[in-house]
Amino acid sequence: MTIRKEIIALLSTGEWTAKDISQAMHIPEKEVYNHLEHVQRSLKGALGIKAPACLSCGFTFTKRRTFRAPSRCPLCKSEHIKDPLFFLLQQKRKDMSHPPLL
Ligand SMILES: [Zn+2]
Repeated sequence: MTIRKEIIALLSTGEWTAKDISQAMHIPEKEVYNHLEHVQRSLKGALGIKAPACLSCGFTFTKRRTFRAPSRCPLCKSEHIKDPLFFLLQQKRKDMSHPPLL
């Protein structure tokens, strides 16, 4: 299995931060971001990203296009930012006995 396939396999099991992926795969976090970019391209939109959010004021970085959490909140300047979460979007499911939890 290639690293990217392993990352996709990880993402299919739940929501992961880049830090979690780096620990699970034993690769540096900055490589995770590299792989995620390629994964996003090869999955053609099936990579789900929960936007990073400020833990102090709740501001959500929905317009941010990179995978990295920003270092501080533009509104309240807090540095407590929740890391973005990566997961696989449910694709056309043949088995509807387990509907996706949204
Ligand atoms: Zn804030």
